[in-house]
Amino acid sequence: MSHAPTFRLAGVMGWPISHSRSPIIHNHWIAQYGLKGSYAPLPVAPENLADAVRGLRALGFAGCNLTIPHKVAAMALVDQVDATARRMGALNTIVVQPDGSLHGFNNDGAGFIQSLLDEQPAWRAETGPAVVLGAGGAARAVVVSLAERGAKEIRLLNRTAAKAQALADEFGIPVRAIPWEQRADALADAALLVNTTNQGMVGQPALDLALDALPKHALVCDVIYTPLETPLLKAAKARGHVTVNGLGMLLNQARPAFNAWFGVMPEITPALRAAIVATF
Ligand code: NAP
Repeated sequence: MSHAPTFRLAGVMGWPISHSRSPIIHNHWIAQYGLKGSYAPLPVAPENLADAVRGLRALGFAGCNLTIPHKVAAMALVDQVDATARRMGALNTIVVQPDGSLHGFNNDGAGFIQSLLDEQPAWRAETGPAVVLGAGGAARAVVVSLAERGAKEIRLLNRTAAKAQALADEFGIPVRAIPWEQRADALADAALLVNTTNQGMVGQPALDLALDALPKHALVCDVIYTPLETPLLKAAKARGHVTVNGLGMLLNQARPAFNAWFGVMPEITPALRAAIVATF
């Protein structure tokens, strides 16, 4: 008798986890493609992460996503980490291999790049300088993915200068740390502006940034998705910039994980976008 699972299980480990939109995304695709399976929110306290990750195999899970605060700690708990995730220093996806070993990935950066291409198919990383604001987890994913796509200059600015400098030291060329106070001037001749700080998110003040020096052809991206239009994106739109919000990054990072677990590369449809937006 075969023990191959016909009902595929996956989920997202976080603490807390109730805010995660990943169950809506993956269960939407499971239903859309008529698959047998389920994707669950998995509330896992930090002290239980090692047991929970080990449990994936025993429970027959296809894998899981990881969100705050587990992305960094999970690196030490898997058998193999792919090169991009290692550069980012964090995992957002684990895939249980047929032999039971656990492979770790990070699709956040690929999701970010795809969200730019969805909005502007001709966009290329090497077109001109990129300005990235913030130096947290999202910034690491953005910086690594831009560098991997061939960006020649990434200007990194963070309120706490030492964190931007530490990332610039770690990644080297093309990343250059610039003092936060110079953020308005740093926009001169930029081709891309990305906000990865939490400024402009629901409950937070707007990002304090004058856009005057930003060339009109620059693409402006905010990885925040609540709200879908942050004050930064609103101001950029008013100046005529093409803008990209964080929903595309969220949806695109989920596609390769779903493919690895359920064997279908899913599409991002208007119905899926509407289902997520309905939760805001
Ligand atoms: P994080 O690691 O906590 O980093 C937060 C960043 O915001 C830091 O650079 C921090 O600077 C900066 N910041 C906080 N308060 C600030 C202020 N008053 N002025 C200027 N900068 C300030 O968070 P994260 O995980 O990178 O997430 C950042 C944002 O990205 C969140 O809004 C999150 O929802 C979003 N995100 C979106 C996606 C997606 O799929 N679209 C994925 C991941 C994250 P300091 O170092 O000075 O504290």
